[in-house]
Amino acid sequence: MLNLKDPSLLKQQCYIDGQWVAADSGATFEVTNPATGETLARVPRMGEAETRRAIEAAERAWPAWRAKTAKERATVLRKWYELILENQDDLAVLLTAEQGKPLAESRGEVVYGASFFEWFAEEGKRIYGETIPSPWPDRRLLAIRQPIGVAAAVTPWNFPNAMITRKVGPALAAGCPMVLKPASQTPLSALALAELAARAGVPAGVFSVVTGSAKEIGAELCANPIVRKLSFTGSTEIGRELMAACAKDIKKVSLELGGNAPFIVFDDADLDAAVEGAIVSKYRNAGQTCVCANRIYVQSGVYDAFADKLATAVAKLKIGNGLEPGVTQGPMIDMKAVEKVEEHIADAVAKGGQVIAGGRRHALGHSFFEPTIVTGVTCEMKVAREETFGPLAPLFRFDSEQEVIEQANDTEYGLAAYFFSRDLGRAFRVAEALEYGMVGVNSGLISTEVAPFGGVKQSGLGREGSRHGIEDYLEIKYICLAGL
Ligand code: ADP
Repeated sequence: MLNLKDPSLLKQQCYIDGQWVAADSGATFEVTNPATGETLARVPRMGEAETRRAIEAAERAWPAWRAKTAKERATVLRKWYELILENQDDLAVLLTAEQGKPLAESRGEVVYGASFFEWFAEEGKRIYGETIPSPWPDRRLLAIRQPIGVAAAVTPWNFPNAMITRKVGPALAAGCPMVLKPASQTPLSALALAELAARAGVPAGVFSVVTGSAKEIGAELCANPIVRKLSFTGSTEIGRELMAACAKDIKKVSLELGGNAPFIVFDDADLDAAVEGAIVSKYRNAGQTCVCANRIYVQSGVYDAFADKLATAVAKLKIGNGLEPGVTQGPMIDMKAVEKVEEHIADAVAKGGQVIAGGRRHALGHSFFEPTIVTGVTCEMKVAREETFGPLAPLFRFDSEQEVIEQANDTEYGLAAYFFSRDLGRAFRVAEALEYGMVGVNSGLISTEVAPFGGVKQSGLGREGSRHGIEDYLEIKYICLAGL
């Protein structure tokens, strides 16, 4: 079993209204380790009734929480932040066990996740208003920003810690209580965060975690009129459904959805830096991030050299159980994810692509998959249109800057894009021409709590992190003082 310094961080109940509780029916579901198939825990399978109670508890907790000063709320968030850092070893072990990513990546995620509490604890103090020059001599006009109310979050399995904190941090800092439904593959990180919330002094009802049926919990979060705001990270398909459900009572929504990131290597790039960027952007978390490079475009002059260097770098990746030292790529989340990668490889090969590295399930079994490179990829192949969400690097060849910009933008997605070039003019031209919410120039890793994360087109609505991340939890109120 798991070797935790503090075994009480492994929770098998939900946290609602400050209490650890089972499902009304007593039903549970298994949480398994994708690297071994072993059962790690059983957590409650909750549904509408329990979700409603969590929402009602949040509504009761709201007046006192919003009445606190920003500094008082910051003190609680800061304490929670410190507790996460103090327990980062255990949180990383739990995260790797339920999700599969290498321990070093889990530690990185826990620290990154905690940074949203530190950042938003401070941003909460800067929710400034405005005084507006009045068009009337006897009136004064003000605009203030206030918490929107009870907020809900639905989060995915690929970042079981950080996708939660980047929603809960701004919500709580702004004065909004939050009800969270974590992904069913990875509820243990969420429940451990709830235990630390209790220790940090987050009042009952201000943060609740409900695990179980996505359909039932999601339906209640969208339909309950007490909830004024939903923040979702996951697939575009489910995001669209939730947005439609939230339309009924005009809930505010933030959506962080799928991507189909282009990664462009120009002839004038530093090829070693580009290879390093491609490795981190493509193979981190076994290719299962929404900002992973999905389509790698390489200019003709450096195509073969880049492919060779990438293959050499890929050969150095160490595949295995993420809890073992030195492992750089863990298993994929499940067999369905493996099948999608296989489908994309088979489709590319059938249409003329060549596998120059990997290409198959890994000898370790379970959902381990070899890091793969396919060359000779064209825009008729599935990898050009769909998000692979796995360790497959498809290399497209291109000739001109204009051509690659058109191809890169030819998608309904618009989350992250990357390119490598040492030409300053090109750096500005291409960064401005790419229709994406985020662009990495000469880097494959761009996420930080201080910068706005989010997409355009069908990749989402709203921004997380940065000074903009708190906006989604605020409403503007205009006050007109007349008769002066
Ligand atoms: P992924 O491909 O990352 O699993 P999903 O969009 O399927 O993306 O899931 C992201 C989150 O949305 C998870 O917490 C999942 O349980 C939840 N989810 C899936 N289907 C629904 C639904 N119909 N209503 C509400 N939440 C859902």
